Amino acid sequence: MSRHEDPIQLGFAEPLEADDTPASYEFDRIGGHPVWLHAMTPLPSDRRRCSACGQAMPLLLQVFTPEDCPEEAHARVLYLFACRNGNCLRDPGAVAVRAFRSQWHADPTPATALAPPPADAPAPFPLFALVSEDEPAEDAAAAAQDLALQMKGVVVADGDAPGVDESEETGVGVDPTFLAFQARIEREPQQAFRYVRTRYTEADVGLDMSEDDAGADSEDEDEAAESKNDQAPKSLSSNARALFACDVGKPDPASLVCRYCAGPQDLECQVMPQILRHIQADHSDAAAMDFGTLLVYTCRANCQPTTATVPEADSAMPTVAGSDKLAYMEERMVLQPFSLDGMSLANPGPQFKA
Ligand SMILES: [Zn+2]
Ligand SMILES: [Zn+2]
Repeated sequence: MSRHEDPIQLGFAEPLEADDTPASYEFDRIGGHPVWLHAMTPLPSDRRRCSACGQAMPLLLQVFTPEDCPEEAHARVLYLFACRNGNCLRDPGAVAVRAFRSQWHADPTPATALAPPPADAPAPFPLFALVSEDEPAEDAAAAAQDLALQMKGVVVADGDAPGVDESEETGVGVDPTFLAFQARIEREPQQAFRYVRTRYTEADVGLDMSEDDAGADSEDEDEAAESKNDQAPKSLSSNARALFACDVGKPDPASLVCRYCAGPQDLECQVMPQILRHIQADHSDAAAMDFGTLLVYTCRANCQPTTATVPEADSAMPTVAGSDKLAYMEERMVLQPFSLDGMSLANPGPQFKA
């Protein structure tokens, strides 16, 4: 395994507490209305429409993820949107989930009071704090479950491994990817979110990146890191920490290319199905939301396009006030359905009970 990896952060939905600050864009949340980093430049609602039903998607989750490089990422927020119509989520041809990155070099002062949502804002999902902690190491219970799976004749790879055997049908007729997914979730069954973004490693790109340390803060070290970025293969994205729910809908790494800089997009985070138990009232509705996981891939370089470099499709994207820099960069969100052999939230197994 890599020497550079930080622990995976798990996110949990918690009720708001008195000292929470939901008016701040720095407050990580599930549901509610988005709080924009660029308060004067909200994401236009037509930029977050579901391609299937045409409705503006409500905020699923917002997370504050400042980074050292480039300077524009010193304040950085990810906004994830999802259509609330499960039929749209189940339509393999629909774009029913969307992800945007917003960033700025100067940290704008967070607001202290929630602004009223605009009149055309979609009805929000219920608001929760998104509280994070390190993923626990594999414990005895998980080890025991792995052993039980192995005794059923299912070989489960180490959860940290880049992938589980892709296609093997098992004697018990259950997708081994799904079993590995379940086993990993068992470490912390209430997880609604996984944050996995990390520096790419030699194992990911086939180069020695051992000097490329996330702690670099001098100008020289930043420049060294950037020049290594330039040397990295442009088409290789990191899926090393992905926890796939099934073998359906795995993105082709070659397709994970930033639409702005053409550099690679790496897995940054995943939304887990447990979130649905918090934001959705009726899981038995025929149009209930349902997914195995949502995988969010973002530009490795945190590129900052301007109106001069933006693709035609984004030419209407707003810019930061007084600047030619885009206020929002669309990233890639991939939906994996539940394994056909697995469970559905409409009929939750014991590990998905609240
Ligand atoms: Zn829709
Ligand atoms: Zn980019």
